[in-house]
Amino acid sequence: MSNLFSRDIDLKNYSWFNLGGPAKNFFKPKNNTDLINFFNKKNDINKNIHILGAGSNTLFRDGGYNGTIIKLGKEFSNIEILNDGNLLVGAACLDKKIANFALENSFKDFEFLSCIPGSIGGAIAMNCGCYGNEISKLVISVDAVTFDGQLKTFNKDQIKFFYRGSDFGEPLIITSAKLKGSKGKKKEIQEKQNKFLDQKKKSQPSKIKTCGSTFKNPGNKKAWELIKDSGCINLKVGGAKLSNQHCNFFVNEGNATSKDIELLIESVKDKVYLKTGIKLDLEIKIVGKN
Ligand SMILES: Cc1cc2nc3c(=O)[nH]c(=O)nc-3n(C[C@H](O)[C@H](O)[C@H](O)COP(=O)(O)OP(=O)(O)OC[C@H]3O[C@@H](n4cnc5c(N)ncnc54)[C@H](O)[C@@H]3O)c2cc1C
Repeated sequence: MSNLFSRDIDLKNYSWFNLGGPAKNFFKPKNNTDLINFFNKKNDINKNIHILGAGSNTLFRDGGYNGTIIKLGKEFSNIEILNDGNLLVGAACLDKKIANFALENSFKDFEFLSCIPGSIGGAIAMNCGCYGNEISKLVISVDAVTFDGQLKTFNKDQIKFFYRGSDFGEPLIITSAKLKGSKGKKKEIQEKQNKFLDQKKKSQPSKIKTCGSTFKNPGNKKAWELIKDSGCINLKVGGAKLSNQHCNFFVNEGNATSKDIELLIESVKDKVYLKTGIKLDLEIKIVGKN
């Protein structure tokens, strides 16, 4: 195996929950060719695959992952302004870095990305958003390597974006994206970014081990309101609890296991269903074995 691969990597260091067992294989490609070669290999290394971004929406189970985790190397963190005035960003680039780059260069509509702690690959996969914005609105096209080893460009109209997700019609790893560059006034962009950051600070906890909203909002209802109204606020399992500031944020107090988080998820789901008849759907991704 080349130095792009490691074995028995502790996944808790790669999730915002700070939880999870070991990954059997961990693959960190430096470029598209590494990825294409990986998918074209004829052995077991590419049979059971999970793509990891910044891990801000991923709970790894305590038993770890019996396959290969792919995490794009830092070489995929580029940002550049193209001749047509749009932005080209590598999929590993953090949303915050893109928001700050946009601010620096007076591109508007990226302000909300300053509030989202993931990578742009994860943002597109999840169609992340807040305060009335969604990444889909900025996407022009996406480059990806498919699991059968082809580099493809998908124009926006070939991608199905929906609330907290997207569908490319086949399994793939996003490697870069072309995002709409609309010029604005730097002062206004700065003010909007500050307003969003302020709103986030007031409504959501920070500096805790969490992956943000655990459940999607069902229809026009708010998951956190359903959780609160169903009497879940003080529920706890082992070292897992709900955030005092935002009860849809589940928290590892420091000594939780992934199992604790999952049991808490089940318990909240049950209580909300019994009280309201609504079945909450997970926004976070749960990966691996118990
Ligand atoms: C404090 C906090 C606040 C948050 N606030 C918000 C918010 O306001 N709005 C919001 O929408 N989300 C929010 N989130 C959730 C999370 O940040 C977003 O879902 C983010 O887009 C996930 O990006 P990531 O790189 O961390 O993805 P990961 O957690 O690593 O992965 C998430 C999913 O994306 C897939 N994926 C990741 N990278 C790629 C790639 N290159 N190619 C293909 N698939 C890929 C993974 O396989 C997985 O299915 C918050 C999270 C935290 C911790």
